[in-house]
Amino acid sequence: MRYFSTRGAGPVTLDESLVRGIASDGGLYMPQTLPEFTVEDFATTRSIPQVAARLMAPFFSGSTLQDELDAILDETFSFPIPITALPAGQGSAGLLELYHGPTAAFKDVGAGFLAACLTRLEGDEADPLTILVATSGDTGGAVAAAFNERPGMRVVVLFPEGRVSERQAQQLTCWGDNVLSLRVRGAFDDCQALVKSALADTGLGRRFRFSSANSINIGRLLPQSTYYAHASLQHYAQTGRKPGFIVPTGNLGNALACIMAREMGLPIGPIILATNANRTISDYFETLRWLPRPSVQTLASAMDVGDPSNMERLRSLVGDAEILREQLGVLAVTDDLIGTAIRRDYEEFGFATCPHTATATHTWRELDRELKTGHDWILVATAHPAKFETIVEPLIGAMVPLPDGLAEILARPSRSVAIDAELDALGMALHDFFSA
Ligand SMILES: *Cc1c(COP(=O)(O)O)cnc(C)c1O
Repeated sequence: MRYFSTRGAGPVTLDESLVRGIASDGGLYMPQTLPEFTVEDFATTRSIPQVAARLMAPFFSGSTLQDELDAILDETFSFPIPITALPAGQGSAGLLELYHGPTAAFKDVGAGFLAACLTRLEGDEADPLTILVATSGDTGGAVAAAFNERPGMRVVVLFPEGRVSERQAQQLTCWGDNVLSLRVRGAFDDCQALVKSALADTGLGRRFRFSSANSINIGRLLPQSTYYAHASLQHYAQTGRKPGFIVPTGNLGNALACIMAREMGLPIGPIILATNANRTISDYFETLRWLPRPSVQTLASAMDVGDPSNMERLRSLVGDAEILREQLGVLAVTDDLIGTAIRRDYEEFGFATCPHTATATHTWRELDRELKTGHDWILVATAHPAKFETIVEPLIGAMVPLPDGLAEILARPSRSVAIDAELDALGMALHDFFSA
């Protein structure tokens, strides 16, 4: 399989696209073609790693990682991804729980897969690869967990001091000797700018072999199609019906993986994107004009994206708004409605949902009758509510029980270094930490 930039550059191999992250022309890598499958192709696959192996094999043809694919997938899918049936109201629905990984959110899948691949491609104990990641909360934890204690690899997490929740901060700072956590005196944008200047700095580049684990890396995207394939095959085997999916959406990576699974022939019905008050995608479908803008802060903060970069991939795969809106639904959900949905979910389901997941449960309740009862629906739960307890607990008036994995992380010692948002300070911190 060859990979091309959405802006035309290429072709490159899978290995190259994984290591480079972003294409030389500034575009995003996509596979040259999507493989086509039928349900029968999965007749003998049962477990998620087995489904993943079948689905991912064409993407790895010609890669030096081909023979390691099974091991990579066993490492990536080391936790369950169950579907919980929701109490029958109108029509049938289930919740796809993507939050049983190390940091209790779906980003663990993409980060784990990328770490498993990059360690094999670039890991070198004599001259480790240093992954830089700027985070506003969720991404950094998933990336740190994924690369934690991997030989020949290091991670530097930069997060804005005082602007992430306590539990998020703990998930950014509780790792081993190959993870440096930096509390940057500044905002998320300062963290991102620091990463950019470090990657471009020749002085630092002589001392460190840098890379990034950006959300636009194809290695974060590809494995996510697996849980849509597995869930839809399981549902189709049980009922003979293709489920629809409602996907909480920010930068469009998770939803794109669902769309790719449908394009590859998996038994998937309608797909609906649920966003928060950041309306760039819903306005695009309505007005046919793509108008990226600064993000607004919402309760579903991991979806606060005003310029979803994966739209470039979606357009190259499917087409522009006129075609997209025939194939996808979209609903923008305000904070008020997210709050209402969290309360109703707790009352009606008997358990809490996180603010991101609540955009999907709200969207499901709002479906018109025909659409709602004409399909079975799988609502995608992107994070565990205990990660967002300061939002969820006051709304439901109850404590959210901590899952074991999260409790274990919260009990660990935490360590981080505060720096000013300046390249010199970053260089010094790197030097102190990694040569000590
Ligand atoms: C990142 C994230 C999202 C948004 O996913 P995209 O792939 O950016 O659309 C939704 N929910 C949670 C909990 C997240 O961490």
